[in-house]
Amino acid sequence: MSDRKCLECNEPLRGRADQKFCNDQCRSAFNNRQLIDSNKVIRIINRILKKNYSILTALNPEGKTTVLLNDLQKKGYRFDYFTCSYTARNNRVYFFCYDLGYCELENCKVILVRRDLNGDLVLPKTILPKDKLNIKQFDSSKIG
Ligand SMILES: [Zn+2]
Repeated sequence: MSDRKCLECNEPLRGRADQKFCNDQCRSAFNNRQLIDSNKVIRIINRILKKNYSILTALNPEGKTTVLLNDLQKKGYRFDYFTCSYTARNNRVYFFCYDLGYCELENCKVILVRRDLNGDLVLPKTILPKDKLNIKQFDSSKIG
């Protein structure tokens, strides 16, 4: 007896070797659920990015300021989620959430900036991100 089972309802399959579902109903139920799951991931990440953006907006109303890393942390900023990064000429790496970004400085400080879409903070499209990316992790021992 075959041990192949329908991916949706788990009933044993008796058809072709490549059969995955017992019928079209099971196939579409399965595919719909996959779609809902992937939308859920997008919704969760969008929520994180939105929260990050609102934190940066609140801390940086003027478009440029310096705050403590801890100011971002206290508000629940997720440093592992960002929309793009940029390495400046001085090798400092900026992490952006849309047009608002931050860059880690010395002494547990961060500079907050607003990206000028016409300025030189825009990553040229001809450069692959991996050539520009130099992601450094925050040293958690410095956070306090
Ligand atoms: Zn089925």
